[in-house]
Amino acid sequence: MTHHGDALRPGETVLDRPLAADDAGLVFIGVLRTPFQIRDDCPRQGSFDGPECRVELRPEFAPALQGIERHSHLELLYWLHRARRDLLSQSPKADGEVRGTFSLRSPLRPNPIGTSVVKLERREGNTLIVRGLDCLDGTPLLDVKPDRCGYTVQARAKGLD
Ligand code: SAM
Repeated sequence: MTHHGDALRPGETVLDRPLAADDAGLVFIGVLRTPFQIRDDCPRQGSFDGPECRVELRPEFAPALQGIERHSHLELLYWLHRARRDLLSQSPKADGEVRGTFSLRSPLRPNPIGTSVVKLERREGNTLIVRGLDCLDGTPLLDVKPDRCGYTVQARAKGLD
């Protein structure tokens, strides 16, 4: 049986409103709570020994967290909502050296999607407590996935995928 036709499989659950499949309209599934109030407070990239941050899922997405504690590290995708979106080339250090936007991990990009691999400390209901974020407090959350390093042959053998 191909996954995923219209039929639900036993135990599967869905949102109570449909999302169009033919555009890239994204929904914010939650919000990231960090100690970083201004951009200068943010690290350029997060670190696993950084401060605890909160990944607050909207309640309707809570069922989608089932099984998340099996993973020690998660990949978060978020919308860098304060970023301008019109830069094609940038000088990150303001030193005259200019590079194309797509050769940088700068937050300033046409679709300002940020990604971080974070360490999952614990779950508190709809909220995940993690370390490794680099974004402003209030940054909207787009997605949560197990980190790719869980997808090794050894992890598969333990049934972690
Ligand atoms: N880790 C992500 C990545 O690699 O895709 C983002 C890296 S980007 C270099 C991180 C920087 O984006 C932070 O240091 C801060 O200056 C900026 N930033 C963080 N949150 C932001 C937001 N919500 N809107 C705009 N800029 C943000």
